Amino acid sequence: MTAEGIHPTGKARSDRAFVTLATNRDYATGAAALFRSLRRTGTTADLVLLYTDLPPDAVEGLRALGVRPVRVDLLPTSDGFNALHARDRLHGAAPFTKGEKPPFHTPLDNFAKLRLWQLDYDRVVFIDADAIVLQNIDRLFDYPEFSAAPNVYESLADFHRLNSGVFTARPSAATFEVMLARLDQPGRFWRRTDQTFLESHFPNWHGLPVFDNMLQYVWLNLPQLWRWQDIRVLHYQYEKPWQDHAKAEALRPLVELWRAHAGDGPVPDPRDLPPPPGSASGAA
Ligand code: UDP
Ligand code: MN
Repeated sequence: MTAEGIHPTGKARSDRAFVTLATNRDYATGAAALFRSLRRTGTTADLVLLYTDLPPDAVEGLRALGVRPVRVDLLPTSDGFNALHARDRLHGAAPFTKGEKPPFHTPLDNFAKLRLWQLDYDRVVFIDADAIVLQNIDRLFDYPEFSAAPNVYESLADFHRLNSGVFTARPSAATFEVMLARLDQPGRFWRRTDQTFLESHFPNWHGLPVFDNMLQYVWLNLPQLWRWQDIRVLHYQYEKPWQDHAKAEALRPLVELWRAHAGDGPVPDPRDLPPPPGSASGAA
């Protein structure tokens, strides 16, 4: 692979890969838990980390888990684009009113996800570094490009939008070029970064079940939707489980499950975990 802006080492061992992105040590911590959880599902797909400037020990730690690290550059977007999507500017123009973004979250970095279209795999399932996989999801490789779950965590209106924390893609240099050209046009502002862009680029996106990308705020806001036995991917949007944060107490069983997956010890069977407060689960 000689594509510009992407610097892979080693070889693909499969024609399919689970891919995540980490542009700093915090998200590398998340990626390690994600990959450990994926291993536990028995998948034979490659595990690929796209990264920018991680410290060498973080990269080696992930390689030791059998992960294929692929160094990438941020996208070659214009100064104007970078200024519009800079953290303070974006938070000012499109404030986050429903949850807190951690201090180590740089909106511009999100767009580097699009580099996965440059990879040497036929099929890719992208998963955010702040997620863990609780059951085998290899069937997602048979879903078409572009499939994603709705961004559901508060109300029915959420079904209008997708969440870009889990999606299916078919890498292609041609697709990547077309995306890059569309992404960075004068004055163009993507208020929720890659998520808004992907939604606009694939207006006829295919819907995945919410259980393939269950957002942690469902526990708080839509407890009736929560069924531990059905959840395949658990996604810690907004505050991260490795952070000290204001909602950690309310989300305690989820945070503890993430910690179990991040470590070497046994992980609990999610079916043994308590239901969310107010879910009335257990009623017939
Ligand atoms: N990401 C990253 N560095 C950043 C911001 C994001 O590596 O500074 C990657 C990481 O994989 C992360 C994903 O992009 O999981 C999307 O960001 P995040 O999960 O924080 O957004 P949220 O799910 O809270 O909307
Ligand atoms: Mn996320």
